[in-house]
Amino acid sequence: MADSQLPKYLIDLSRVKPGFHRRRLERDGVGFDLFIWRGGPGPVLLVNGATHGDEYEGPTLLSRWVRDWRPKRLAGAVVMVPVLNEPAFFAGQRCNPDDRANLARSFPGKRRGNPTERLAALFDQQVLAQATHYADLHSAGAAYELKPWSGHVSGIGGKVERTQREMSACFDHFWCWAGPYLPGRTLSAACLRGIPGTYVECRGCGDVDGGDLRAIDEGLRSLIGLLGITAGPRRRLRPQFTRISRNADDTHLQLHHPSPHDGLYIPLAPINRKVRRGAILGRVLSLDGKKETDVPAIRGGRVVMIRRQRSVRKGDALAVVVPF
Ligand SMILES: [Zn+2]
Repeated sequence: MADSQLPKYLIDLSRVKPGFHRRRLERDGVGFDLFIWRGGPGPVLLVNGATHGDEYEGPTLLSRWVRDWRPKRLAGAVVMVPVLNEPAFFAGQRCNPDDRANLARSFPGKRRGNPTERLAALFDQQVLAQATHYADLHSAGAAYELKPWSGHVSGIGGKVERTQREMSACFDHFWCWAGPYLPGRTLSAACLRGIPGTYVECRGCGDVDGGDLRAIDEGLRSLIGLLGITAGPRRRLRPQFTRISRNADDTHLQLHHPSPHDGLYIPLAPINRKVRRGAILGRVLSLDGKKETDVPAIRGGRVVMIRRQRSVRKGDALAVVVPF
């Protein structure tokens, strides 16, 4: 059969019958489970967790929704992928141990690439392509702790950006941090397809904070209400503090306060502390006892992310300070 005669989608969401469906999507030796609530015509919201394997808030929330959520009437569909990056998740690592590639830098992916690129291509071409709206649930992972935020790609303008702002505002227990397009992310793939997207970053520390879980649960319900997929009264949203970064490096967390050398890290400024420029955020000790290097804040503001893993390599991000 010629390629053009093959069905476009392995699972065609427009042909799925109303109700709840569990499916597994596999191609090119990679795959994941997806859970579909299909109603009548309407928007298709795609939500996933574990783009990074050591981030457990998204998988925890979505597996609870798979177990408990029983909507009565739906206009459209909600498609949940609790664990997108299975090899990384089951290894308890941020990235797939087989190729060490970062899924959040691999979109839109390649069908003939490494496993992570093939996974990105499968998700992008087979699922994201069928969505009208997208949400990616991240966290600081095992090695970091952060002050939770929601966010989206800024600077694209028009209706898509307006919708993205409204989507991020649904996660109103968190502050909002929007930043420019950075290639390779899930949200960048949504952006290339003109699909409005939002993401959240939960606390992390290799754990799941109960408050964060309630916050993203309420946020997801608000988002589904905002899109009109469920009817009924909607929760009144609180105003969010919002920061819009113009420089892509500002929201590239792995670039902030790089470790000056290998060693042991001692964090000295807790999360959420307000610091002045030059304040000591932490200290790196070399294992031979010869070097002890303070890490000063490069700007004043609030500490929104800190490294929790004590072992560090030269260049590892140690802290993020944002002016507010
Ligand atoms: Zn992540």
